[in-house]
Amino acid sequence: MKTIITDFNYLAAKTLDEALDLLCKHKDDDYRIIAGGQSLNTAMKHRLLTPEYILDIKGVADLDYVRFDEKEGLKIGALATHRSVELSPVVREKYEVLREMEENVASIETRNWGTLMGDLCNADPAVDPAPPLIALDAEITVSAKGEERTVPAEEFAVDFFETVVQPGEMATEIRVPPLPPNTGVHFMKYSQIHGDYALASASVLITLDAAKEQCVNARIGLGGVGVTPIRAKKAEEVLKGKKITDEVLAEAARVASEETSPISGIEASADYKRELAGTLVRRVGKEALERARRA
Ligand SMILES: Cc1cc2nc3c(=O)[nH]c(=O)nc-3n(C[C@H](O)[C@H](O)[C@H](O)COP(=O)(O)OP(=O)(O)OC[C@H]3O[C@@H](n4cnc5c(N)ncnc54)[C@H](O)[C@@H]3O)c2cc1C
Repeated sequence: MKTIITDFNYLAAKTLDEALDLLCKHKDDDYRIIAGGQSLNTAMKHRLLTPEYILDIKGVADLDYVRFDEKEGLKIGALATHRSVELSPVVREKYEVLREMEENVASIETRNWGTLMGDLCNADPAVDPAPPLIALDAEITVSAKGEERTVPAEEFAVDFFETVVQPGEMATEIRVPPLPPNTGVHFMKYSQIHGDYALASASVLITLDAAKEQCVNARIGLGGVGVTPIRAKKAEEVLKGKKITDEVLAEAARVASEETSPISGIEASADYKRELAGTLVRRVGKEALERARRA
C-alpha cells in the first residue's frame, strides 16, 4: 500500500551552526527545511513536494526568540511561532499592528505550530505578515555557513511560492526598526472565511511632522494582489509631503489599486481584488492617520 507522504531521509539540527553545516553538506541535494510543518506537510501530503531529505530546524532553540532593543528595534528569530509573536508583550506595546495581523492568521492551533518565518518562506502571495513587515520597513536575514545577507521585506518573495533563499541558505531573523515619533500603522485583510488566506490585504504606515499636520513618510504593503506581496511606492508618493485629507487618501487608494496585478480565481476576479486593494488602502490609511495623530 502506498503511504501518503513519500519516503525521505530525516535530519535534525539542534543549533544554528548544525543547521548551517547540514545545509552546506546537502546544498546540491533535493532537500526541504521543515520548521512547524504547517505548509510543508500539506504540500508533501499532496505530493506537490517529494524531497529526498528533510532538515528539521524546529529544535534550534537559539532561533526561537522575540526581542526588542530601543536602538535596533524588534528581532524575530526564525523559530518564533505566530502565537509567540501575537502574545509577545513587546509586540503588543510597540508594534500593535503585528498583533492585529497575527490574530487573523489561520487558527490558534496552526499559529501554535507555524512560524512567522515559515509563512514568509512558503511565499504564498497572500501571506499575512508580508504587508505589515513591508510597511514597517523590515529586513530579513538570510544565512549560509560563514555568510549572511539582509533583504528588505518587499524583495524577499520573488515569485509564486519562491523566495530569495538559495540552496545552502536559510532565513534566520526578521528585523523591524523602531517606529519614529508621530507614526501610525494599521493592517486589514479581507477573506471569505475568518482565519483563511486573504483575497487582498493592506498595511499602511504614516509618519506625521512635529505639528502632526503633514505626512513626512508613508509606506504601503499589499498582499494577495500579485504573484508576490508588493510595496505600492507610487501610492506612497501621493501621501508624502501632504496634509492627508479624505480626498488625498482616495487618490492614494486609486493609485495603489493601479499598482496591483491580481490574478482571477474561483474566489474572486482580478477586477474585484484590484478594487478591494484600493478600498483597503483607503480604510487602513485612515486608521493609520488617526494612530499617527494619537502617537
Ligand atoms: C489551515 C491553514 C490556514 C492558514 N491560514 C493562513 C492565513 O490566514 N494567513 C497566513 O499568512 N498564513 C496562513 N497559513 C499558513 C501558515 O501560517 C503557515 O503554514 C506557517 O506559518 C508556516 O510555518 P511553519 O513553521 O509551519 O513552516 P513549514 O511548513 O515548516 O515550512 C514552510 C516552507 O518554508 C520553508 N522554511 C521554513 N522555515 C524556513 C527558514 N527558516 N528558512 C528557509 N526556509 C524555511 C520550508 O522549507 C517550507 O518550504 C495557514 C496554514 C494552514 C495549515
